[in-house]
Amino acid sequence: MASVILVRYGEIGLKGKNRPAFERRLVENVRRALGSGAGAAVRNEYGRIVVDFGEAEAVPGWALDRIRSVFGVVSVSPAASVELSLEAAREKAAALVEERLKSAAGPLRFKVETKRSNKRFPLTSPEMNARLGSFLLRRFPLLEVDVHRPDFVLHVEVREKAIYLYTEILAGPGGLPVGSSSTGLLLLSGGIDSPVAGWLAMKRGIRVQAVHYHSFPFTSDRSKEKVIDLAAVLSRYSPEPVPLYVVNFTPAQTAIRQHAPAAMVITLMRRMMLRIAERLAKERGIPALITGESVGQVASQTLESMAAINEVTSMPILRPLVTMDKAEIIELAERIGTYEISILPYADCCTVFVPEHPETKPKLEAVRRAEERLAIQELVEEAVATVERIEPAALALR
Ligand code: ATP
Ligand code: MG
Repeated sequence: MASVILVRYGEIGLKGKNRPAFERRLVENVRRALGSGAGAAVRNEYGRIVVDFGEAEAVPGWALDRIRSVFGVVSVSPAASVELSLEAAREKAAALVEERLKSAAGPLRFKVETKRSNKRFPLTSPEMNARLGSFLLRRFPLLEVDVHRPDFVLHVEVREKAIYLYTEILAGPGGLPVGSSSTGLLLLSGGIDSPVAGWLAMKRGIRVQAVHYHSFPFTSDRSKEKVIDLAAVLSRYSPEPVPLYVVNFTPAQTAIRQHAPAAMVITLMRRMMLRIAERLAKERGIPALITGESVGQVASQTLESMAAINEVTSMPILRPLVTMDKAEIIELAERIGTYEISILPYADCCTVFVPEHPETKPKLEAVRRAEERLAIQELVEEAVATVERIEPAALALR
């Protein structure tokens, strides 16, 4: 007997010639999610991943949780692996049912569902269903068969080297394994949206690095700590920690506030952020930027604003939240564990000086004219020179 976790994946199975590479990536990401101390062997077995804990009595709950946050995983089942015999399957099935009954208040309806890929095994699937079903009914008077509306299904898989038995199928996050696409640079504020945008980008297999603009002393060290914590939460979904670049935005912000009309400050700050992000991305060979913008959410997120902001870069900007409602974004933020951190009250550089009437339809002409009074190139250089890389190792320790 061995305790295993069966890991199913979907989309990556469809990738034709690339399939082996995707599978290797997913296996590696599952391995990394578990860490070296897990004492589990991870192997690919006929289009599924099996995480083998050997003789352990049951699979550890933490391991299930970690595998369930690996992108590319569609579902997982904690299972028992027994030798290829009806007797062994019966014994284990009885133990699983007993556990089910223990936590139930009364009788339970069930059915057995066998899949047999090992054609050398002497019993067919319907025969296994019947033999195991009648054995369990005799053994447990509180059980009843109901093939249409069972309270639980006992799954039995007869494979080449073992029989797997389980009663639970738990959903994973889906998507593609991180690292199967290239890297994106996430503009990470301390708000609710951008961490969710980063998570969704990762869900499509994109490796994420993050940049944060900090305006000390207008914003506190606490607001920076908060963003470090957000990067750490995102790192849980990634095979390697998400590095965070912190940029001193104070000189740029001060210059903009001194020289630009108040209504245009936000647009100019965003343009500045993009220019700096583009520089950092290019220096690191990163081909795309990611933001948490969503249409119509605030003044700077009208299509006109996006156009005015976008103008400063030719890099693709991914906006995974672009059509999502705030309520949907919050729900996701709660689920992935960033919400509690995001709502901490420390000010962000853009919330400190929000003008009362920001321009919602900035004209490109006016924006360019306002920028003529700024030493754009020097401000970008100056900002880039302040980059502090918060080491992945430091993030992992949190
Ligand atoms: P968020 O919740 O992500 O802060 P938001 O709804 O507050 O988003 P804005 O303040 O308009 O939206 O910011 C739009 C996007 O610009 C953010 O989602 C983020 O990607 C980026 N951004 C804003 N402020 C910062 C910052 N201080 N550092 C890095 N990126 C930022
Ligand atoms: Mg914000």
